[in-house]
Amino acid sequence: MIWQFKEKARRRLAREAGTVVKDWGGKVRVALVFPNTYYVGMSNLGFQTIYGTLNGQPDLVCERAFLPDPDDLAEHERLRVPVFSLESQRPLTDFDVVAFSTTYENDYLNLLTILALSGIPVEAAERDQRHPVVAMGGVCAWSNPEPLAAFMDFFFLGEGEESSPEVFRLWREIHRTERDPGAARDRFLRQLLTVEGVYAPRFYDVRYAATGSVAEVVALEGAPLPVRKRRLARPDDFDTISVVRTAETEFGQMALLEVGKGCGRGCRFCLEGEIYRPVRHRHLEAIVRGAERLAAGGKRIGLVGACVSDYPWIDDLVRGLRAKGVDISLSSVRADSLSPDLVQALVESGTRTLTIAPEAGTERLRTVIHKSLTEQRLFEAAELIAASGVPSVKTYFMIGLPTETAEDTEGIVELAKRIRHRILRHRRDARRAVEMTVGVSSFVPKPWTAFQWCAMAEVRALEETVERLRRQLRKAGIHFTHDVPKWAHLQGVLARGDRRVAELLRLALTHHGDWKRAFREWPRNANYYVCRERALDERFPWDHFEVGTKRDRLEVEYRRAMGLLPERTVRWKAALA
Ligand code: SF4
Repeated sequence: MIWQFKEKARRRLAREAGTVVKDWGGKVRVALVFPNTYYVGMSNLGFQTIYGTLNGQPDLVCERAFLPDPDDLAEHERLRVPVFSLESQRPLTDFDVVAFSTTYENDYLNLLTILALSGIPVEAAERDQRHPVVAMGGVCAWSNPEPLAAFMDFFFLGEGEESSPEVFRLWREIHRTERDPGAARDRFLRQLLTVEGVYAPRFYDVRYAATGSVAEVVALEGAPLPVRKRRLARPDDFDTISVVRTAETEFGQMALLEVGKGCGRGCRFCLEGEIYRPVRHRHLEAIVRGAERLAAGGKRIGLVGACVSDYPWIDDLVRGLRAKGVDISLSSVRADSLSPDLVQALVESGTRTLTIAPEAGTERLRTVIHKSLTEQRLFEAAELIAASGVPSVKTYFMIGLPTETAEDTEGIVELAKRIRHRILRHRRDARRAVEMTVGVSSFVPKPWTAFQWCAMAEVRALEETVERLRRQLRKAGIHFTHDVPKWAHLQGVLARGDRRVAELLRLALTHHGDWKRAFREWPRNANYYVCRERALDERFPWDHFEVGTKRDRLEVEYRRAMGLLPERTVRWKAALA
C-alpha cells in the first residue's frame, strides 16, 4: 500500500511543471504542509509563494505535503502509513521543520490528523529534539492563533516572505554551533523571541477571569508584548505567483499572480480588509514582468488580490495582457469598479460567469456593513454584464448579519430578481436566457473586524433562513447555493476561540472528526464563543497581538454600524453618489 501511495505521488509530480527538487546535503529541511488535499492546497497562492521563496534560498530545501485524499485517508490510518512529502516521498519526521500554511479554520483538525498520522506528537509540550519543530503561518496564524497554541512550537504572524527564511537560517546557525540537539532546540525557540513576526506561545501565560473571558496575558522570559505581525514593506521584492502548475487544482492550468495586498474599502465584516493593512499595490511594471514569465508556460493568468478590480491600473494591465494574447481571470471584482473594458476583457478571455457581491439585500443593511453599493450602482453593473453577453451571473450575499431583519432577507430575493430583470432588458442577444445564481453564506464575526463584538446568529435561525430563501428563489427560477450553517458555526468557534478550545480539537481528533460528539463531550459552551454580544471592554483572546489595525478605530466603526455614532462620508463613497 505504501508503494501505491508513493506511485500516486510520482504520477502527480510527473504531471506538474515548475516542481523544485533539491539535494538535501547540508541544508535545513522544511516540509511545507497544506492541511487539506493536494487539489485544494495547490490552488492556494500563499502556499505556492512560500514554496518558491524558501526554495530560492540556497541553504534550504522545501518540499510539499498534504492531507491524504479522502479515499486514501482511511488506509493511511488503518495501515499507519505516515504522511510523506511529495518531492522525495520522505516522512515528515525526516524534516527539521514542519510548517503548516493555514487559510481556513475548518482545516485545524486536518492539521492535527497529519501530525498524528506522521508519528509526531500532537502536543507541543510532548515534542523534543527527536521531532521536527512544528510551526504555522497563513491568515489563521495571525488573526487568532490561540486555539492552536498547545500544538504549535511557533507561529508566523504576517506575511512570511521575509521572516520564514530568516527563521530557518537561525535554526541552521544554532544547530551548527550547538552540539547537543536538545539544547539547540531550546536555544532556537528562545531566540525566536527576537524575530519580529514570530509568536512562540509557550512564552505566554493566559489567565482567565471568573466570567470566563481572558483577564490577562503575561509574557515570560522577556518575550515581547504585544506581539507584532511582520509586514512586507516592498511587495515588489518578492514574486507572489504560481510556482508549480498542475491541472489537478480548482484553477486547472491557470497561473495565479497577486496584484497587491490589502483592501481599503473597510467593509465591517471583512477580516482580509483589516489584517492586510496598509494597502500595498504592486507596480504595474512588476506585475507585467511576472505575467510575461507566467504566460510563457500557458496563456491563462488569474489576477489575485482582496479586490482586484480596485487595482489602480487595472484597465492598463488587462489591456496590455490581452494585447499579448493572454487570457485573464480575476479572483474578486466590485460592482462599482467594473468598467466596460474590464468586462469585455474577461469575456474575451473565456469567462462564462460574472459575480457581483451586494452582500446584503437592502441598502439599509449595506450601509450598516459599510458595503456602500447603491441599487443604482448594482443595476449599472448588471447592464454592463448584459452588454457583454456573458451567459451566467452570480450574486453573493450573507445572512445573519448584525441588525438583519426579515425585510433584509426578503430583500435578497427581490434584489436578485431585479438584477436579473435588468440583465434581460439590456441583453445583447435578446433570445438567450441568463442563468442567475444567488450564493449565500453565514456571517461569522471574525477577529480584527468592526463586528468582532457582535453575536453570530444561532445555527437553527440560519438554517431557517436558508430554507426560506431556497423556497422563494426556486419559485423565482433562480439557482441557489449556500454554505452549511453548522460549519460556519464551527468556523466561528475556531476563529474566535481562546486556548481552551484546544480541548475541543483534541476530542474531535479522538473521535475521528465526529464534531457532534466532540461538542457534546466538551465541557464548555460553544455559543459562549460565537453567539454572544460582547461588552465593549471585554478582552479578546487576540488582544495581545498587533496586526496593524487599531481596536479604537474598530470600536468607532462598530458604534457607527449600530447607530451609536453618525456615519461618516468617506471619499470613495462620495465618489459613488
Ligand atoms: S471590498 Fe471586499 S476585500 Fe475589500 S473590505 Fe470589502 S469585502 Fe473585504
